Amino acid sequence: MDIDFPNGKKLRLVIGDITKIRVDAIVNAANSGLRGGGGVDGAIHRAGGSAIMRELDEVRGKTGGCPTGSAVVTAAGALPAQYVFHAVGPIYRDGRHGEPAQLAACYRKCLELAEERNVRTISFPAISTGAYGYPAQEAANIALETVAAHLDGAETRVREVLLVLFDAGFYQLYQRTASHSLSNWIK
Ligand code: ADP
Repeated sequence: MDIDFPNGKKLRLVIGDITKIRVDAIVNAANSGLRGGGGVDGAIHRAGGSAIMRELDEVRGKTGGCPTGSAVVTAAGALPAQYVFHAVGPIYRDGRHGEPAQLAACYRKCLELAEERNVRTISFPAISTGAYGYPAQEAANIALETVAAHLDGAETRVREVLLVLFDAGFYQLYQRTASHSLSNWIK
């Protein structure tokens, strides 16, 4: 499903494996230790190769890791991209411990990093919805609203944002949510 903004920018919902789709920057759902894990993180390190972890080791050595709601940049190794933005989503407790703001901050931070690096196309997984337990519907609302607000802005270099959903259930949920909340722009 494509959502076209009047300024020519595009938000696309895609089913698939984020490591297989060519973009300028791939967002990883990382953890604050930047040590790799399961889910998307495991897939990105497997497909990208060990150079990515070597770069993260350096970042960790300097900063100790990455706080929740933020992201760090590495090259993309063997992935079909130039950069990986390792974003640290919140671990979901009950939604009343700052999780919505932290999840929105992840998306915003990656979009800022993209703008700084002249990234035109960027793909996001559904951050925090796997091991970190964020309810899918609430995560979909936040992801769609935050990305749409950015793309609707005047001076963005980012032209296309892909939200890559790993299975059909997530894809349908995101599609339904987009049809409601982004109805002005749906083709
Ligand atoms: P988190 O720890 O932030 O919850 P996970 O990697 O456990 O991160 O899960 C985040 C989302 O990414 C889940 O919806 C999961 O189904 C999905 N996912 C897992 N592997 C991939 C992949 N290769 N491409 C895209 N999405 C994936």
